Amino acid sequence: MPELPEVETIARGLHKRVAGDTIQSVWLGEKPEPLKSPPSEIVAVLERSRIMQVRRIGKHIVFDLDRPGGRHGRGTLPGQWIVHLGMTGRMQVTEPETEIARHTHAIIKLASGREVRFVDPRRFGRLAVASGNAEVAEGFRAPGDEPLESALERFIELFRGRKTPIKSALLNQKLLSGVGNIYADESLFRAGLRPRRRTASLTKDQLCKLHAAVQEVLREAIALGGSSVSDYVDADGEAGFFQLQHRVYGREGEPCLVCRRLIKRVVIAGRSSHYCPKCQK
Ligand SMILES: [Zn+2]
Repeated sequence: MPELPEVETIARGLHKRVAGDTIQSVWLGEKPEPLKSPPSEIVAVLERSRIMQVRRIGKHIVFDLDRPGGRHGRGTLPGQWIVHLGMTGRMQVTEPETEIARHTHAIIKLASGREVRFVDPRRFGRLAVASGNAEVAEGFRAPGDEPLESALERFIELFRGRKTPIKSALLNQKLLSGVGNIYADESLFRAGLRPRRRTASLTKDQLCKLHAAVQEVLREAIALGGSSVSDYVDADGEAGFFQLQHRVYGREGEPCLVCRRLIKRVVIAGRSSHYCPKCQK
């Protein structure tokens, strides 16, 4: 499943390729699951819209659109196309001759002649639009705070006093939007905190360290992802990301890179958590 850094990388890659282009027509597949807005509404918002920018919000890819049809048929209205990749979703920017992959659920034809396609074998991904009324002035919002923009004071306010293990709090999308299992484990390692630690037991200093660690891990992963974006967007999606070397995630039984103690794995709220019993308290 793509995590925040991957989604950021994909959004940047899409922005580079399609910003400024205009959507000419939209084809949607027959499977209803990926469509979170009514198909007719998706078509109405996308067709003839100009793509102003593509960006990441939480783990969503958001296309900001200028739609024709302001007052008296002149000017433009704002709109948004919102994509969530789910487990197996991917976006392709291709020439129209490129063979259509199995499990393609949407094809967006652009004025430049290229196409943006949404492919998703397991159909946990989601397509939606927002448009046309007062809500869109605010635009799409993820439920939690953007982790890379969360100021320290705000971060402390969000986490302080929570009774859940810190690992669960990091994964709670209503607090921070887009931190997944891998980066939660890696952040906790860098902050020297065990995943089971009760959030309420953390000192202010420890929360400061965690705040810095979350941002550092995500930023490093985004910096690495930048080099592999073309693989993901253009190709068939099989090519993996160039990943941050994990220090604990997926390393159960292997020696800690700092102290050589063996990395442990525990299950917290149904998710695997990896930590070093010596470096993390
Ligand atoms: Zn260690």
